[in-house]
Amino acid sequence: MDNQNSERSNVIIGSYTPPDENGNGEIIKRVFFRQGKIFKDYGAFYNNPEEVCYIPELSDTTYTGNNIRGMCNNQEDMAEELFEQLDWQHPESLKEDWLVTGEWDYCDKCGKLFDCYGKTKCPHCGSDYNGGK
Ligand SMILES: [Zn+2]
Repeated sequence: MDNQNSERSNVIIGSYTPPDENGNGEIIKRVFFRQGKIFKDYGAFYNNPEEVCYIPELSDTTYTGNNIRGMCNNQEDMAEELFEQLDWQHPESLKEDWLVTGEWDYCDKCGKLFDCYGKTKCPHCGSDYNGGK
């Protein structure tokens, strides 16, 4: 790994012990990070996409890297942006916030997500973008 995330890829905030095959023994230990108490495992997100990499502050819902990638059309750059910014909220909620506030949008033509703020063209297919909806 020599990308820009490599220095963070061994950062773990809190700890998580998954349940055994009978569903017992799950242990969630959250630690305060930026805005809330969460579990967040950068190495799991970047290197082990089927492992739990994030648990928000207000529920015990567990997310794997692939869950987060799935929310982002499996677009790696968008999934990384979403994961990096999580500090208390559910990833679905943060993504919805960004769609509502005009940070992110889906292209009408190609259907891909992109950082739409200030953009006049879709960076994926090049079709004109005028702020959506
Ligand atoms: Zn497009």
